[in-house]
Amino acid sequence: MYFSLPEEYREANAATLNNRIEEARSRLGHRLCLLVHHYQRMEIVAHADYLGDSYALSKLAAGQKDAEIIIFCGVHFMAESADVLTSDQQMVYLANPLAGCPMADMADMADVLEAWEYLKPFGGADQFMPVSYMNTTAGLKAFTGRNGGLICTSSNARAALEYAYDRRDKVFFFPDENLGMNTGNQLGLKPEEMVIWDFSRQNGGLTEDEIAQARLILWKGHCHVHTNFTVDQITHIRQEYPDVQVIVHPECIPDVVDAADGAGSTRYIVEYCEKATAGSVIAIGTEVNLIHRMAEEYPDKTILQLSGEICPVCANMYRTTLNDLAYCLDHHADLKPIRVPESDRADALLSLQRMLEIG
Ligand code: SF4
Repeated sequence: MYFSLPEEYREANAATLNNRIEEARSRLGHRLCLLVHHYQRMEIVAHADYLGDSYALSKLAAGQKDAEIIIFCGVHFMAESADVLTSDQQMVYLANPLAGCPMADMADMADVLEAWEYLKPFGGADQFMPVSYMNTTAGLKAFTGRNGGLICTSSNARAALEYAYDRRDKVFFFPDENLGMNTGNQLGLKPEEMVIWDFSRQNGGLTEDEIAQARLILWKGHCHVHTNFTVDQITHIRQEYPDVQVIVHPECIPDVVDAADGAGSTRYIVEYCEKATAGSVIAIGTEVNLIHRMAEEYPDKTILQLSGEICPVCANMYRTTLNDLAYCLDHHADLKPIRVPESDRADALLSLQRMLEIG
């Protein structure tokens, strides 16, 4: 099976694997595009044609008109989006096909459809707009596109909700309750206007009155990496480093976002570190591989992990190794590309294009 790599790849040392990767890159030339997410291991980042967050990578995928082979070092939903945004002739591969996103798995298609059917009598498609975080299956992106909605990432969640409220009264947002609530707070929604749909409970665990007065219905999903951060950690780090600037990702819980000095997407965090003046002390609440890389890239600044001893690693992003990448590059012709079913492609594309249009 693919995930049990042949011994030749499993046992090779880093120098051999790096050579193999570079040889394959030269051999494939402009036919290849290697897209790498910011949370990947440093040794993978070193081989990237493009490095970015999920928004930047989806834009880059859409712009790859020449590359016949697109290899994604990230997680499954990202490769699916790249497949939707590229032509039928272009093949998208996930360097480690087992790399998924537990948050995306929290929104199951059948559960979302059941919720949508239940919500319809409270205004129906004329009132509700589905807004889906990028971290969903292509099937749910298609559902979103079919029902007039759009995809968002942490870079443009606010713009996506504004787009939705310009057209409809209520938003059904999935699967990250924290990104949804943090964005609702930014837009000034009142607490009673935001409710959590708990898919494990009858009717989402909500009363009819709660749904009727809600403007933002949030799926009960979360990222197990970003929900590791706590207000106590912020208090603690401020005591230890009085000049520290705390920045966090909006998948953190709202109390953490409120207590931080700034919150924003992966791109925001990267740019924050880049622009900070020498000598700055910055504590970051996001995935650990990105924090380590920022610390290495900016040795004139003190860049710290907000959670101290707790290591906020995304095990799925960490799954992709040099071994996987070398094997995928050498054997892509024998591997199964990531293919979104025809029945979902057009509607998933619609929801992604709406996102790209709002920027
Ligand atoms: S960091 Fe969280 S949201 Fe991102 S891929 Fe990992 S589990 Fe999913």
